[in-house]
Amino acid sequence: MTDALHILKVALDVPLDRVFDYKTDNPNTQIGQYVVVPFGARKMIGVVVGVSDTSSIESKKLKSIIRLDPEVIFDEESFKLFQFCSQYYHYPIGQTILSAVPSRLKKLNTRAMVKKYLYRLTPKALQLGVDQLPPRQTILKRIVVALIDAKELDEASLRSISSTWKKSIETLDEMGWIEKNEATLDDKVYKEAPIPLLNSDQQEALDAILEKKQKFAPWLLYGITGSGKTEVYIRLIEEALKKEHAQVLVLVPEINLTPQLESRFRSRFEKFTLVTLHSHLTDNERLTHWRLAKEGTAQIIIGTRLSIFTPMPHLSLIIIDEEHDASFKQQEGLRYHARDVAIFRAKSENIPIVMGTATPSLETWFNATKTKDPKKFGFLKLSSRAVEDSTLPEIKCIDISKSTVLKGFSPYLIDAIRDRLNKKEQSLIFINRRGFAPVLLCASCQWTGKCHRCSSRLVVHLNQKRLRCHHCGHDEKMPQQCPSCGNTDLYPTGLGTQRIEETLKELFPEARILRVDRDSTKTKEALNDLFLKMKNREIDILIGTQMLSKGHDFPYLSLVGVLDTDQALYSPDFRASERLFSQLMQVSGRAGRANIKGEVYIQTAFPNHPLFEALKTHDYEHFANELLKERALAELSPFVFLVLLKAEAHQLTHVMQFLNEAMIKAQNLSHQITVYNPVRPMMERLKGMERAQLVLQASSRVALQKLLEEWVLYLRENKLGQKVKWVVDVDPLEF
Ligand code: ADP
Ligand code: ZN
Ligand code: ZN
Repeated sequence: MTDALHILKVALDVPLDRVFDYKTDNPNTQIGQYVVVPFGARKMIGVVVGVSDTSSIESKKLKSIIRLDPEVIFDEESFKLFQFCSQYYHYPIGQTILSAVPSRLKKLNTRAMVKKYLYRLTPKALQLGVDQLPPRQTILKRIVVALIDAKELDEASLRSISSTWKKSIETLDEMGWIEKNEATLDDKVYKEAPIPLLNSDQQEALDAILEKKQKFAPWLLYGITGSGKTEVYIRLIEEALKKEHAQVLVLVPEINLTPQLESRFRSRFEKFTLVTLHSHLTDNERLTHWRLAKEGTAQIIIGTRLSIFTPMPHLSLIIIDEEHDASFKQQEGLRYHARDVAIFRAKSENIPIVMGTATPSLETWFNATKTKDPKKFGFLKLSSRAVEDSTLPEIKCIDISKSTVLKGFSPYLIDAIRDRLNKKEQSLIFINRRGFAPVLLCASCQWTGKCHRCSSRLVVHLNQKRLRCHHCGHDEKMPQQCPSCGNTDLYPTGLGTQRIEETLKELFPEARILRVDRDSTKTKEALNDLFLKMKNREIDILIGTQMLSKGHDFPYLSLVGVLDTDQALYSPDFRASERLFSQLMQVSGRAGRANIKGEVYIQTAFPNHPLFEALKTHDYEHFANELLKERALAELSPFVFLVLLKAEAHQLTHVMQFLNEAMIKAQNLSHQITVYNPVRPMMERLKGMERAQLVLQASSRVALQKLLEEWVLYLRENKLGQKVKWVVDVDPLEF
C-alpha cells in the first residue's frame, strides 16, 4: 500500500451493536464529528467514533463518506458515557449515541443562534398596575402580573403563560406599557430574593459536602419539601463556581422545571450564564443552550434526564433534585436511568453528586443508610421546614367502609370543602393517576366497553359522548344501549376526573373549579397557567392527578382531599406503595403554608394500613425501613438486580416460543441467575399486539451483566426476532 488510508469507524442508528468502516481523504477528521455515509442503498447520518489506518475490510470494498460536518459534537468524556450506557443497558452503540444528542443536529443543520428579547413593564405600567387593565382581559392580566413578579421575562416564559402572548404584548406595547430589549444570554435581571442564613442542618450538609473537596462522592440530601434543600444546592453551586472554569449540572424532573424554579436560580446567579435543557424548548433554543454547555460557556445547566449526556468540559458538580422521580428513567429506546448514569459520570469525572428528595427511592435510601460501612452514599438530613412559620399539615383518614359515599365523596370531605369555600380558601382534590378512569357499565348484564386492540377498558369521555382507549387511542361513539343485551340503562362507573368535576359542580354550583388531567399537566404552559390562576385566586377547587410540582407555594390552599387510592395498596407492582407514599407526601405538602393550617383527608377502606400510619406522622424513614424488610424477605430490589425481557408479536405463539427459548438459554448460561417463566403483563394486548415478558433476577450485578452480554447477542441472532419485537430493560421500573 502506498497511500496511508484514513479509516473512520462510524456509529450508525441501526440495531446492530457494531461500528462501520468508511474511507475519507481528510486526515484531520476527529472523533465526535457527524458524517453522512452510504449504507446499502440509503444515505445515513452517523458519528465518527474512531479513526484508524487499518480496516479488516479490503480497501477496494471500502466506501467513502459523503459529507463531514465540521462541528465536534462530543468529547472523550461523553464518549465514555455512551460506551457505558451501551454496555450496561445492552443497547447498540450507534443508537445510544444518536438518541443522546439533540435531534436538530441529526439533520446536519448549520449553526443557528437565536435572537432573544426580554420584556419588562414601563414605569407608567408599574404605576398604573393591573387594576387599570380593561376587564375580562385575563391573559393580559396574567402577563402583567407575571411581569410585576419577575421584573423581566423572556419569550419562553411568556409563551408558557399563553400561546397567544404575542398578541397581548402588542396590545401592551400600544398602551405604552412594555419595553423590549435584545438580550444576551447572561444579562437578565430578576427579582432579588433575600438570601437566608443557613440553619444548622443546612450548614452541616454544606460543610460535609465541601469537605470532600472536588472528589467523587455521592450524597443523599434528605429533607421534606420546604426544608431548604434548594438553598443548599444554591450554596454548593456558588462554591463550585468560585473556580475559574466550572460548570454545574442540575437535573430535575420535567414537571419541576418551571419558570419559577428557573428564575429563582437566575436571581441568585445573575453574573453567570445559566441555560435550561428540556423538551419544551424549540429546536433552536435547545441547540443554542446545548452548544453553550458544550463550549463551556454556560456555567449552570438545568435540565431534564437527557441533559446528563450533554458534553461539559468543566463539569464540577452534579445535583439531582427529586431523585426518586420515575421520569428520570427513560421508558423506550435506550432505557437509561439518568440518576444512575449521572453517578457513573460523576465517578468517571471525579466530582461530587448530590441527590435531594423528601422521599428517596428505596434503592437510594438503602445505599445511604443500610449498606455496610463505608456506605455507598453519604447521608445528610434536613429535619424541619426552613421557614419558621410554616407547619406540616394534619393528615386524617376517612374510613369509607363505615361512611356513606356520594359519588366518591364522603360527607366529611364535602363539609371540609364547603368550609374552605366559606373561608375563601382553596381545595385540591387528588386522585391517583393509575387506573381510575370511568368505564361504561350495563346495569342489567354487566357488559363493559372494551378495546378490541388492547386488553383495556374504554374510558368514558362524557362531554364528547365518546369511549376512548387510553393506550392505543381507539375512539368510538358512546352507545345508547347495551351492545350485548339491548338495555338502555348504561352508566359510567369509577372515578374519573370528569365525573369528579360533575359531582363537585352539582354540590358546589357557585365554586370555580378547574380540572387538570394527565395530558394538560404535560406542558409547561398549562402548568404555569394553573399556578398563576391559583395565585390570583381564580380557582376554588382544583381537581387533579399530579400537581406535585416543586417550587410552588399555593398560599391559599388549605385542604387536600385524596380519593380512592386503595388499589395501589394492593397492587401487583411491588413499587406501587413506594410511589403512592411519595405522591401523597408531596401532595400533602401542597396544603398549609405560613398562617393557614393545612389539612389532608384521605378516603380509604384501610385507614389502619401502615402506609397511612407513617404518612400521618410524616415518617418516611419508618415506612422506608419497613418496606425494605418486606423487600428483603420477598427478594426484590434493592436486594436483587432485575432485568426484564419484553416481547410482542401479532401471534402469541411466536411470543411464547421466543421467550421460552430465551429462558432456556439464560438458564444454560448461568446458575447464579434466577430465570422466571414467561408471563403475560397486566396489559396483555396492546395496539393489536400480543405481549409477554420474563424476568431475570440476580444477587450479583456482575454476574447478571456477564450473562446479559452473551444472552443479548443470542437474542439478536434468534430467527424469531423477525416476527417478535423485543426489548431488554435493565433495572426496570415498570413491569
Ligand atoms: P426545598 O428545596 O427543600 O423544598 P427550599 O430550599 O426551596 O426547600 O426552601 C423552602 C423555603 O424556605 C424557600 O422559600 C427558601 O427561600 C426558604 N429557606 C431556605 N433556607 C432557609 C433558611 N435557612 N432560613 C430561612 N428561609 C429559608
Ligand atoms: Zn347489557
Ligand atoms: Zn386500545
